Amino acid sequence: MDISEKIKQNSSDRIILCRIGEIALKGLNRSTFEKNLYRNMKEKLRPLGDPEIHWSQSRFYVYPKDDGFDYQKACKAITSIFGIVSVSVALRCPSDFQEVTKIAVKAAAEKIASAGGGKGPGSIRFKVESRRGVKTFPMSSPEISCELGGVLLESFPELTVDVNEPDFILYCEIREESYVYTDIIKAQGGMPLGSNGKACLLLSGGIDSPVAGYMISRRGVKICAVHFYSYPYTSERAKEKVIELAKIISRYCGEIKLMIVPYTEVQLAIHGHCRDELGTVIMRRSMMRIAELLARRNGCAALVTGESIGQVASQTMQAMYCTDDAAGMPVFRPLIAMDKVDVIEIAREIDTFETSILPYEDCCTVFTPKHPKTKPSLEEVVAEEQKYDYEALEKAAVEGVETVIVG
Ligand code: ATP
Ligand code: MG
Repeated sequence: MDISEKIKQNSSDRIILCRIGEIALKGLNRSTFEKNLYRNMKEKLRPLGDPEIHWSQSRFYVYPKDDGFDYQKACKAITSIFGIVSVSVALRCPSDFQEVTKIAVKAAAEKIASAGGGKGPGSIRFKVESRRGVKTFPMSSPEISCELGGVLLESFPELTVDVNEPDFILYCEIREESYVYTDIIKAQGGMPLGSNGKACLLLSGGIDSPVAGYMISRRGVKICAVHFYSYPYTSERAKEKVIELAKIISRYCGEIKLMIVPYTEVQLAIHGHCRDELGTVIMRRSMMRIAELLARRNGCAALVTGESIGQVASQTMQAMYCTDDAAGMPVFRPLIAMDKVDVIEIAREIDTFETSILPYEDCCTVFTPKHPKTKPSLEEVVAEEQKYDYEALEKAAVEGVETVIVG
Protein backbone atom coordinates (compact mmCIF):
# COMPACT_ATOMS: atom_id res chain seq x y z
CA MET A 1 0.00 0.00 0.00
CA ASP A 2 1.47 3.40 -0.88
CA ILE A 3 1.76 6.23 1.61
CA SER A 4 -1.20 8.25 0.33
CA GLU A 5 -3.51 5.26 0.82
CA LYS A 6 -2.23 4.77 4.36
CA ILE A 7 -2.74 8.45 5.09
CA LYS A 8 -6.33 8.32 3.86
CA GLN A 9 -7.07 5.32 6.05
CA ASN A 10 -5.85 7.00 9.21
CA SER A 11 -8.76 8.48 11.14
CA SER A 12 -7.09 10.83 13.64
CA ASP A 13 -8.01 14.49 13.20
CA ARG A 14 -4.52 15.70 14.02
CA ILE A 15 -0.95 14.64 13.45
CA ILE A 16 2.52 15.68 14.51
CA LEU A 17 4.47 17.31 11.78
CA CYS A 18 8.27 17.06 12.16
CA ARG A 19 10.71 19.22 10.21
CA ILE A 20 14.14 17.84 9.46
CA GLY A 21 17.20 20.02 9.18
CA GLU A 22 20.43 19.24 7.42
CA ILE A 23 19.29 15.81 6.29
CA ALA A 24 17.15 17.55 3.71
CA LEU A 25 20.34 18.94 2.15
CA LYS A 26 21.92 15.53 1.73
CA GLY A 27 22.46 14.16 -1.73
CA LEU A 28 22.46 10.54 -2.73
CA ASN A 29 22.79 9.14 0.78
CA ARG A 30 19.83 11.13 2.09
CA SER A 31 17.60 8.09 2.35
CA THR A 32 20.13 6.39 4.65
CA PHE A 33 19.79 9.31 7.07
CA GLU A 34 16.00 9.30 6.71
CA LYS A 35 15.78 5.60 7.44
CA ASN A 36 18.01 6.09 10.44
CA LEU A 37 15.81 8.89 11.73
CA TYR A 38 12.71 6.79 11.09
CA ARG A 39 14.14 3.95 13.21
CA ASN A 40 15.03 6.34 16.03
CA MET A 41 11.56 7.91 15.99
CA LYS A 42 9.88 4.52 15.90
CA GLU A 43 11.86 3.40 18.93
CA LYS A 44 11.13 6.56 20.94
CA LEU A 45 7.42 6.54 20.12
CA ARG A 46 6.76 2.82 20.48
CA PRO A 47 5.95 3.13 24.22
CA LEU A 48 3.48 5.92 23.38
CA GLY A 49 1.14 3.84 21.26
CA ASP A 50 3.47 3.07 18.36
CA PRO A 51 2.04 5.64 15.91
CA GLU A 52 2.54 5.37 12.17
CA ILE A 53 5.36 7.45 10.77
CA HIS A 54 5.64 8.53 7.13
CA TRP A 55 8.06 10.84 5.44
CA SER A 56 8.05 12.85 2.28
CA GLN A 57 9.58 16.13 1.11
CA SER A 58 11.74 16.99 4.15
CA ARG A 59 8.97 16.20 6.59
CA PHE A 60 8.14 13.36 8.90
CA TYR A 61 4.48 12.85 9.79
CA VAL A 62 3.37 11.05 12.93
CA TYR A 63 -0.11 9.52 12.68
CA PRO A 64 -1.63 8.24 15.95
CA LYS A 65 -3.35 4.90 15.79
CA ASP A 66 -6.06 5.67 18.35
CA ASP A 67 -7.86 8.45 20.22
CA GLY A 68 -5.94 8.05 23.46
CA PHE A 69 -2.70 9.33 21.91
CA ASP A 70 -0.86 11.76 24.20
CA TYR A 71 0.34 14.51 21.85
CA GLN A 72 2.17 16.40 24.55
CA LYS A 73 4.22 13.42 25.65
CA ALA A 74 4.88 12.49 22.04
CA CYS A 75 6.08 16.03 21.22
CA LYS A 76 8.37 15.94 24.24
CA ALA A 77 9.81 12.63 23.07
CA ILE A 78 10.25 13.82 19.49
CA THR A 79 11.95 17.06 20.48
CA SER A 80 14.71 14.99 22.09
CA ILE A 81 15.46 13.13 18.85
CA PHE A 82 18.52 14.35 16.97
CA GLY A 83 17.84 15.24 13.34
CA ILE A 84 14.51 16.96 13.95
CA VAL A 85 14.53 20.75 13.94
CA SER A 86 10.98 21.52 15.07
CA VAL A 87 7.55 19.98 15.50
CA SER A 88 3.95 21.12 15.31
CA VAL A 89 0.71 19.45 16.24
CA ALA A 90 -1.44 20.09 13.17
CA LEU A 91 -5.10 19.60 12.39
CA ARG A 92 -5.54 17.70 9.14
CA CYS A 93 -8.16 17.48 6.45
CA PRO A 94 -8.52 16.63 2.75
CA SER A 95 -7.17 19.35 0.45
CA ASP A 96 -10.48 21.04 -0.16
CA PHE A 97 -10.92 24.70 0.77
CA GLN A 98 -14.20 24.22 2.65
CA GLU A 99 -12.54 21.57 4.81
CA VAL A 100 -9.45 23.71 5.31
CA THR A 101 -11.65 26.57 6.49
CA LYS A 102 -13.27 24.33 9.10
CA ILE A 103 -9.97 23.21 10.62
CA ALA A 104 -8.62 26.77 10.50
CA VAL A 105 -11.60 27.94 12.59
CA LYS A 106 -11.04 25.05 14.98
CA ALA A 107 -7.31 25.79 15.33
CA ALA A 108 -7.97 29.50 15.93
CA ALA A 109 -10.64 28.68 18.54
CA GLU A 110 -8.19 26.44 20.38
CA LYS A 111 -5.50 29.11 20.27
CA ILE A 112 -7.84 31.82 21.53
CA ALA A 113 -9.04 29.55 24.35
CA SER A 114 -5.44 28.79 25.36
CA ALA A 115 -4.77 32.54 25.49
CA GLY A 116 -7.63 32.88 28.00
CA GLY A 117 -10.07 34.22 25.40
CA GLY A 118 -8.40 37.61 24.97
CA LYS A 119 -9.34 40.96 26.53
CA GLY A 120 -12.28 42.02 24.40
CA PRO A 121 -12.85 42.70 20.69
CA GLY A 122 -9.74 42.97 18.55
CA SER A 123 -7.40 42.21 21.44
CA ILE A 124 -5.61 39.23 19.86
CA ARG A 125 -3.45 39.97 16.81
CA PHE A 126 -2.89 37.30 14.22
CA LYS A 127 -1.89 36.61 10.67
CA VAL A 128 -2.20 33.68 8.29
CA GLU A 129 0.74 32.16 6.43
CA SER A 130 -0.07 29.69 3.71
CA ARG A 131 1.95 27.39 1.58
CA ARG A 132 0.64 25.53 -1.42
CA GLY A 133 2.68 22.40 -2.01
CA VAL A 134 0.49 20.96 -4.77
CA LYS A 135 0.02 23.07 -7.84
CA THR A 136 -3.32 21.42 -8.66
CA PHE A 137 -5.00 23.30 -5.82
CA PRO A 138 -7.08 26.09 -7.41
CA MET A 139 -6.01 28.99 -5.14
CA SER A 140 -2.61 30.65 -4.77
CA SER A 141 -0.94 30.95 -1.34
CA PRO A 142 -1.81 34.69 -0.92
CA GLU A 143 -5.41 33.95 -1.87
CA ILE A 144 -5.62 31.17 0.72
CA SER A 145 -4.19 33.45 3.46
CA CYS A 146 -6.52 36.28 2.53
CA GLU A 147 -9.66 34.12 2.45
CA LEU A 148 -8.85 32.31 5.69
CA GLY A 149 -7.99 35.60 7.42
CA GLY A 150 -11.41 36.94 6.41
CA VAL A 151 -13.23 33.87 7.71
CA LEU A 152 -11.40 34.01 11.04
CA LEU A 153 -12.12 37.72 11.49
CA GLU A 154 -15.81 37.03 10.91
CA SER A 155 -15.84 34.07 13.27
CA PHE A 156 -13.95 35.62 16.19
CA PRO A 157 -14.56 39.25 17.20
CA GLU A 158 -11.54 39.09 19.56
CA LEU A 159 -9.20 38.79 16.56
CA THR A 160 -7.54 41.53 14.57
CA VAL A 161 -4.98 41.19 11.76
CA ASP A 162 -1.45 42.39 12.40
CA VAL A 163 1.12 41.10 9.93
CA ASN A 164 4.07 42.75 11.68
CA GLU A 165 3.55 41.82 15.32
CA PRO A 166 1.02 39.01 15.54
CA ASP A 167 0.31 37.24 18.83
CA PHE A 168 0.00 34.07 16.80
CA ILE A 169 0.40 32.88 13.25
CA LEU A 170 -2.03 30.44 11.76
CA TYR A 171 -0.05 28.27 9.36
CA CYS A 172 -1.84 26.55 6.54
CA GLU A 173 -0.18 23.99 4.30
CA ILE A 174 -1.87 22.52 1.28
CA ARG A 175 -0.24 19.26 0.30
CA GLU A 176 -1.53 15.81 -0.55
CA GLU A 177 -3.74 16.49 2.45
CA SER A 178 -3.88 19.84 4.27
CA TYR A 179 -2.62 20.95 7.66
CA VAL A 180 -3.34 23.88 9.94
CA TYR A 181 -1.39 24.70 13.09
CA THR A 182 -0.46 27.65 15.26
CA ASP A 183 2.62 26.52 17.19
CA ILE A 184 6.13 25.50 16.21
CA ILE A 185 8.12 23.80 18.97
CA LYS A 186 11.89 23.95 18.65
CA ALA A 187 13.69 20.58 18.74
CA GLN A 188 17.35 19.52 18.92
CA GLY A 189 18.44 19.73 15.28
CA GLY A 190 21.61 17.85 14.39
CA MET A 191 21.89 14.48 12.67
CA PRO A 192 20.16 11.18 13.41
CA LEU A 193 21.85 9.18 16.14
CA GLY A 194 24.06 6.46 14.76
CA SER A 195 24.42 8.08 11.35
CA ASN A 196 27.99 9.23 12.05
CA GLY A 197 29.78 6.39 13.77
CA LYS A 198 30.66 5.77 17.37
CA ALA A 199 32.98 7.51 19.86
CA CYS A 200 34.01 7.10 23.47
CA LEU A 201 33.29 9.97 25.86
CA LEU A 202 35.53 10.63 28.84
CA LEU A 203 32.80 11.41 31.33
CA SER A 204 33.73 13.14 34.59
CA GLY A 205 31.29 14.39 37.16
CA GLY A 206 31.79 17.99 36.03
CA ILE A 207 29.75 20.38 33.95
CA ASP A 208 31.63 20.09 30.70
CA SER A 209 31.90 16.46 29.69
CA PRO A 210 28.15 15.64 29.76
CA VAL A 211 27.61 18.66 27.49
CA ALA A 212 30.42 17.46 25.20
CA GLY A 213 28.75 14.03 25.01
CA TYR A 214 25.42 15.59 24.17
CA MET A 215 26.99 17.79 21.48
CA ILE A 216 28.91 15.05 19.69
CA SER A 217 25.81 12.86 19.82
CA ARG A 218 23.79 15.63 18.27
CA ARG A 219 25.99 15.25 15.21
CA GLY A 220 24.77 11.67 14.91
CA VAL A 221 27.62 10.01 16.80
CA LYS A 222 26.66 7.13 19.06
CA ILE A 223 28.59 7.20 22.34
CA CYS A 224 29.84 4.95 25.06
CA ALA A 225 31.53 6.44 28.12
CA VAL A 226 34.52 5.93 30.36
CA HIS A 227 34.80 7.25 33.90
CA PHE A 228 37.96 7.15 35.98
CA TYR A 229 37.18 6.45 39.56
CA SER A 230 39.64 6.81 42.44
CA TYR A 231 38.05 5.22 45.45
CA PRO A 232 38.43 6.12 48.35
CA TYR A 233 39.76 9.51 47.22
CA THR A 234 36.45 9.94 45.46
CA SER A 235 33.33 8.67 47.15
CA GLU A 236 30.70 6.15 46.11
CA ARG A 237 28.40 9.14 45.70
CA ALA A 238 30.71 10.64 43.08
CA LYS A 239 30.30 7.44 41.09
CA GLU A 240 26.53 7.55 41.45
CA LYS A 241 26.60 11.12 40.24
CA VAL A 242 28.37 10.09 37.05
CA ILE A 243 25.88 7.27 36.48
CA GLU A 244 23.09 9.80 36.95
CA LEU A 245 24.71 12.18 34.43
CA ALA A 246 25.00 9.36 31.91
CA LYS A 247 21.31 8.60 32.50
CA ILE A 248 20.32 12.21 31.87
CA ILE A 249 22.20 12.49 28.60
CA SER A 250 20.91 9.08 27.48
CA ARG A 251 17.51 10.77 27.06
CA TYR A 252 19.08 12.28 23.96
CA CYS A 253 22.03 10.02 23.20
CA GLY A 254 20.19 6.70 23.58
CA GLU A 255 21.52 3.77 25.59
CA ILE A 256 25.02 4.37 26.94
CA LYS A 257 27.49 1.75 28.05
CA LEU A 258 29.37 3.39 30.91
CA MET A 259 32.69 1.83 31.88
CA ILE A 260 33.95 2.73 35.31
CA VAL A 261 37.70 2.31 35.57
CA PRO A 262 39.23 1.71 39.04
CA TYR A 263 41.96 4.31 38.72
CA THR A 264 43.35 4.73 42.25
CA GLU A 265 46.52 2.67 41.79
CA VAL A 266 47.53 4.41 38.59
CA GLN A 267 46.83 7.79 40.05
CA LEU A 268 48.83 7.08 43.20
CA ALA A 269 51.74 5.84 41.09
CA ILE A 270 51.70 9.02 38.98
CA HIS A 271 51.47 11.12 42.11
CA GLY A 272 54.37 9.22 43.68
CA HIS A 273 56.73 9.17 40.69
CA CYS A 274 56.20 12.35 38.72
CA ARG A 275 57.23 15.91 39.27
CA ASP A 276 54.17 17.59 40.73
CA GLU A 277 53.97 20.25 38.02
CA LEU A 278 53.66 17.57 35.28
CA GLY A 279 51.35 15.26 37.23
CA THR A 280 48.12 16.37 35.59
CA VAL A 281 49.28 16.11 32.01
CA ILE A 282 50.85 12.70 32.67
CA MET A 283 47.63 11.53 34.27
CA ARG A 284 45.69 12.76 31.26
CA ARG A 285 47.99 10.83 28.94
CA SER A 286 47.37 7.72 31.01
CA MET A 287 43.61 8.30 30.84
CA MET A 288 43.89 8.57 27.05
CA ARG A 289 45.75 5.27 26.77
CA ILE A 290 43.15 3.46 28.85
CA ALA A 291 40.23 5.16 27.12
CA GLU A 292 41.68 4.30 23.71
CA LEU A 293 41.88 0.64 24.62
CA LEU A 294 38.29 0.58 25.84
CA ALA A 295 37.17 2.61 22.84
CA ARG A 296 38.71 0.10 20.41
CA ARG A 297 37.10 -2.79 22.24
CA ASN A 298 33.76 -1.07 21.78
CA GLY A 299 34.11 -0.23 18.10
CA CYS A 300 34.73 3.49 18.61
CA ALA A 301 36.80 5.55 16.19
CA ALA A 302 37.49 8.56 18.41
CA LEU A 303 37.64 9.87 21.96
CA VAL A 304 35.61 12.85 23.19
CA THR A 305 36.40 15.18 26.08
CA GLY A 306 34.86 18.29 27.62
CA GLU A 307 38.00 20.38 27.31
CA SER A 308 37.89 24.02 26.31
CA ILE A 309 40.96 25.98 25.39
CA GLY A 310 42.58 27.86 28.25
CA GLN A 311 40.01 26.77 30.85
CA VAL A 312 42.59 25.18 33.18
CA ALA A 313 46.32 24.40 33.04
CA SER A 314 45.80 21.04 31.33
CA GLN A 315 43.73 22.68 28.61
CA THR A 316 46.38 24.89 27.00
CA MET A 317 47.41 24.09 23.43
CA GLN A 318 50.74 22.72 24.63
CA ALA A 319 49.16 20.49 27.30
CA MET A 320 46.56 19.17 24.86
CA TYR A 321 49.31 18.43 22.35
CA CYS A 322 50.99 16.28 25.02
CA THR A 323 47.67 14.59 25.81
CA ASP A 324 46.83 13.88 22.17
CA ASP A 325 50.24 12.31 21.64
CA ALA A 326 49.24 9.48 23.99
CA ALA A 327 45.90 8.83 22.27
CA GLY A 328 46.16 6.57 19.27
CA MET A 329 42.95 7.92 17.79
CA PRO A 330 41.43 11.36 17.17
CA VAL A 331 40.35 13.29 20.27
CA PHE A 332 37.27 15.42 19.65
CA ARG A 333 36.58 18.37 21.91
CA PRO A 334 33.18 19.83 21.05
CA LEU A 335 33.55 22.63 23.64
CA ILE A 336 37.00 23.73 22.54
CA ALA A 337 35.98 27.29 21.59
CA MET A 338 33.15 27.78 24.03
CA ASP A 339 32.94 30.07 27.05
CA LYS A 340 31.96 28.46 30.34
CA VAL A 341 28.74 30.52 30.55
CA ASP A 342 27.61 29.11 27.22
CA VAL A 343 28.44 25.56 28.31
CA ILE A 344 26.42 26.14 31.48
CA GLU A 345 23.48 27.36 29.42
CA ILE A 346 23.45 24.09 27.47
CA ALA A 347 23.94 22.09 30.68
CA ARG A 348 20.80 23.76 32.04
CA GLU A 349 18.86 23.10 28.86
CA ILE A 350 19.71 19.41 28.81
CA ASP A 351 19.17 19.17 32.56
CA THR A 352 22.66 18.04 33.63
CA PHE A 353 23.67 21.23 35.43
CA GLU A 354 22.06 20.61 38.82
CA THR A 355 23.61 17.14 39.00
CA SER A 356 27.02 18.33 37.78
CA ILE A 357 27.31 20.93 40.53
CA LEU A 358 26.70 18.45 43.35
CA PRO A 359 29.79 18.85 45.49
CA TYR A 360 31.47 15.42 45.28
CA GLU A 361 35.14 15.43 44.43
CA ASP A 362 36.20 14.09 41.05
CA CYS A 363 39.46 12.22 40.76
CA CYS A 364 41.27 15.07 39.03
CA THR A 365 40.62 17.65 41.72
CA VAL A 366 41.89 15.39 44.52
CA PHE A 367 45.37 15.15 43.00
CA THR A 368 45.57 18.57 41.37
CA PRO A 369 49.09 19.99 41.71
CA LYS A 370 49.57 23.45 43.24
CA HIS A 371 51.47 24.86 40.26
CA PRO A 372 50.81 22.81 37.14
CA LYS A 373 52.96 23.63 34.16
CA THR A 374 50.82 25.39 31.56
CA LYS A 375 53.26 25.03 28.67
CA PRO A 376 54.89 21.63 29.04
CA SER A 377 57.02 20.33 26.18
CA LEU A 378 56.29 16.84 24.90
CA GLU A 379 59.94 15.85 25.41
CA GLU A 380 60.00 16.70 29.12
CA VAL A 381 56.61 15.06 29.69
CA VAL A 382 57.63 11.82 27.95
CA ALA A 383 60.97 11.80 29.81
CA GLU A 384 59.18 12.25 33.13
CA GLU A 385 56.63 9.56 32.26
CA GLN A 386 59.39 7.08 31.39
CA LYS A 387 60.77 7.16 34.92
CA TYR A 388 58.11 4.61 35.86
CA ASP A 389 56.37 1.85 33.94
CA TYR A 390 52.64 2.40 34.27
CA GLU A 391 51.66 -0.31 31.80
CA ALA A 392 50.89 -3.09 34.26
CA LEU A 393 48.82 -0.81 36.48
CA GLU A 394 46.92 0.56 33.49
CA LYS A 395 46.25 -2.96 32.26
CA ALA A 396 44.94 -3.97 35.68
CA ALA A 397 42.69 -0.89 35.68
CA VAL A 398 41.25 -1.90 32.30
CA GLU A 399 40.64 -5.44 33.50
CA GLY A 400 38.90 -4.13 36.62
CA VAL A 401 36.33 -2.10 34.68
CA GLU A 402 32.80 -2.12 36.05
CA THR A 403 30.19 -1.74 33.33
CA VAL A 404 26.83 -0.05 33.76
CA ILE A 405 24.29 0.24 30.95
CA VAL A 406 22.05 3.29 31.23
CA GLY A 407 19.13 4.56 29.17
P1 ATP B 1 34.45 18.54 33.38
O1 ATP B 1 33.56 19.68 33.77
O2 ATP B 1 33.94 17.77 32.20
O3 ATP B 1 34.83 17.68 34.56
P2 ATP B 1 36.75 20.14 33.71
O4 ATP B 1 36.58 21.50 33.23
O5 ATP B 1 36.60 19.85 35.15
O6 ATP B 1 35.78 19.21 32.86
P3 ATP B 1 39.18 18.56 33.67
O7 ATP B 1 38.89 18.04 35.02
O8 ATP B 1 40.53 19.07 33.34
O9 ATP B 1 38.20 19.72 33.21
O10 ATP B 1 38.84 17.44 32.64
C1 ATP B 1 38.89 17.66 31.28
C2 ATP B 1 38.18 16.52 30.58
O11 ATP B 1 38.82 15.28 30.89
C3 ATP B 1 36.76 16.34 31.04
O12 ATP B 1 35.88 17.15 30.34
C4 ATP B 1 36.52 14.88 30.75
O13 ATP B 1 36.25 14.66 29.39
C5 ATP B 1 37.89 14.27 31.08
N1 ATP B 1 37.92 13.82 32.49
C6 ATP B 1 38.37 14.46 33.57
N2 ATP B 1 38.24 13.73 34.69
C7 ATP B 1 37.69 12.56 34.31
C8 ATP B 1 37.28 11.37 34.99
N3 ATP B 1 37.42 11.23 36.29
N4 ATP B 1 36.75 10.37 34.25
C9 ATP B 1 36.58 10.49 32.91
N5 ATP B 1 36.94 11.59 32.24
C10 ATP B 1 37.48 12.61 32.90
MG1 MG C 1 36.35 17.92 35.91
